[in-house]
Amino acid sequence: MLFDTHTHLDAIQFDEDREEVINRALEAGVTRMVNIGFNRETIPTTMKLAETYDFIYAAVGWHPVDAIAMKDGDLDWIASLCSHEKVVAIGEIGLDYHWDTSPKEIQHKVLRQQIGLARELNMPIVIHNRDAHQDIVKILKEEKASEVGGIMHSFSGSWETAKECLHMGFHLSFGGPITFKNAKQPKEVLAQVPMDRLLIETDSPYLTPHPFRGKRNESAYVRIVAEAAAEIKGLSLEELGQITTRNALERFSIL
Ligand SMILES: [Zn+2]
Repeated sequence: MLFDTHTHLDAIQFDEDREEVINRALEAGVTRMVNIGFNRETIPTTMKLAETYDFIYAAVGWHPVDAIAMKDGDLDWIASLCSHEKVVAIGEIGLDYHWDTSPKEIQHKVLRQQIGLARELNMPIVIHNRDAHQDIVKILKEEKASEVGGIMHSFSGSWETAKECLHMGFHLSFGGPITFKNAKQPKEVLAQVPMDRLLIETDSPYLTPHPFRGKRNESAYVRIVAEAAAEIKGLSLEELGQITTRNALERFSIL
């Protein structure tokens, strides 16, 4: 029993074989997935997947990389989708200082607006954070994100940052990087995260785990992530799968 809390099954990388990819995930023991729609193109395709498959849920939000493209009506659009029964979170939202596509001030504004929306609608948020640990923590605090909490997706920060996020009620989600030999920090952080705050994900088609690194990632590989996490936590794969699935169901309020 595995829950891939962050995947992009609507990505063009799956256009040739999406159905097979979904079936392989089911065969690998993945019982639920949250697909992430994060801009004008991927929000509709995410909604379509969530409406087609009962085991696929949707998160919708505006990605920091595309912050500059967000228009006046987009926040209302996201708000209106949040009443859909398959939409379980607002995201991915956050800050990305790696790809220099949207100015920081605009990223901050778009993030703050969406945290405000999440508080208004009482929805958890899915946070994307690339090279912006300090500013993320600062904005989450200032905008009182602890009122709704959510998920630090593909967490890559230090244990100090992790503690700040846990203190604000967030869950930490880990993916492919915990299988990389040279990835000391995510493994150390994972080792210390309380079991009731731990989630697993693929972020497929990105962040492919070892030994498939360099190739396309897919949701079935969340099993590889689960195996790595189980080893670090000293649990069996079954235990790790059960606990993280229960955490995800609770966090996304899936009955
Ligand atoms: Zn993502």
